[in-house]
Amino acid sequence: MGTQLASWLDEHWDPGLTVREWWGRLACAGLSLPQLPECAGGRGWSREQVVARDDLFARRNVVAPPTGLGVLMGAPVVAGAGTSEQVGRLVPPLAAGVEVWCQLFSEPGAGSDLAGVSTRAERDGDEWVVTGQKVWTSGADVADRGMLIARTDWDVPKHRGLTYFVIPMDQPGVEVRPLRQMNGEAHFSEVFLDGARVRDADRIGDVGGGWSVALATLAYERAGLSDERHAGVNVPAGERNGLLDRTCAHVLAHVAERPAGSPDDPASAAALMALAERCGRASDPVVRQRLAAVWSLEAIAEWTRGRVQAEVSAGREAGPGAATGKLAWTTRLALVRDLCLELLGPAGMLDGPNAPDGGRMQRLALSIPSASIAGGSDEIQRNIIGERVLGLPKDVAVDRDVPFREVRR
Ligand SMILES: Cc1cc2nc3c(=O)[nH]c(=O)nc-3n(C[C@H](O)[C@H](O)[C@H](O)COP(=O)(O)OP(=O)(O)OC[C@H]3O[C@@H](n4cnc5c(N)ncnc54)[C@H](O)[C@@H]3O)c2cc1C
Repeated sequence: MGTQLASWLDEHWDPGLTVREWWGRLACAGLSLPQLPECAGGRGWSREQVVARDDLFARRNVVAPPTGLGVLMGAPVVAGAGTSEQVGRLVPPLAAGVEVWCQLFSEPGAGSDLAGVSTRAERDGDEWVVTGQKVWTSGADVADRGMLIARTDWDVPKHRGLTYFVIPMDQPGVEVRPLRQMNGEAHFSEVFLDGARVRDADRIGDVGGGWSVALATLAYERAGLSDERHAGVNVPAGERNGLLDRTCAHVLAHVAERPAGSPDDPASAAALMALAERCGRASDPVVRQRLAAVWSLEAIAEWTRGRVQAEVSAGREAGPGAATGKLAWTTRLALVRDLCLELLGPAGMLDGPNAPDGGRMQRLALSIPSASIAGGSDEIQRNIIGERVLGLPKDVAVDRDVPFREVRR
């Protein structure tokens, strides 16, 4: 496989191609999402084969295949739970990087208790009319479609009245208001849905069967969130990011995110080691011990991820393994933050041109707390491990068997 892929790359990679052309070639060859089955535009590859592709692409410094929540969660969910018509229509634009999706799950009154969403969808002929509010929606401002869970039946218990849709974001009933975080970025938004429309043809799974599709989405999210490997150099996908018609050479030079795991990734053990050198602390035995801990956790996280993704690819539930992997990731990030700020000393409080490295370590430190919340908080991951691995008593749920209308009276 290695030599074949290398020859494919020799023949098809050209930095003079536009990003759109390059991603089109990858999608046509089934190399954007090779882990998907062939009927969904993939190659049915194992985790090891995907990792080998990633390593080769990273070594060659090519533009990585498209990334984002649609690729991470939407494509495999549609491939698993969608009809063949939906797979043929919805997956190719993700594989070719021309569409970006967001995840319209969390609401002001439903985050950890996700089954408590109260955004409603009401049937109107061949369409559904959606009204409600979502929050924390990453990338909503550039998304073409959203993976939406909405309540379609208020007279059954909360998990049974939900339906899953893929809704177009560019329509009059959808208003996106970006929220600014403490690291200065507006990574996520509030999304107001007021009479927004989605076709019944874009419903994934049965009416009232949305919870199991949502759980599959969360499993892909948890398994993938902590995966910091890049298959080459990441470039934002989608028409609205405006890079599709730039050449690969241009984006590599100007806008690409640097590969994770390299000294260019500020959260990697390699970056911390380089920082310790620059701060003259690389021979301090306590610093070395903490660097070794970060390095070890990085390696362990990769093995855990491999096990989880093998489970997910085999169609098995990723629950406890994904929870363990996500917790290992947030534990490592907290160590990274503490060590990098200690190494920087008083300079750790600076931002802007006066800060070491232009402040990227400081921005990283301000971003790290969000990892313990996104994709299910650390406490929720511990609940999953407690209940499903250790067999501890279940979290108390007084509303599990009550019609949702009575819960939200
Ligand atoms: C950077 C970032 C990106 C995000 N992107 C998206 C996105 O794209 N789409 C999306 O839909 N959502 C997104 N989220 C939302 C995220 O999934 C929720 O914030 C998360 O599930 C927690 O929900 P909440 O904020 O409502 O907190 P709550 O559920 O209100 O929890 C508040 C606190 O109580 C604790 N808690 C709650 N229930 C329990 C329990 N049963 N046992 C123990 N402790 C408990 C929690 O751990 C937390 O500390 C994002 C969040 C972040 C930080």
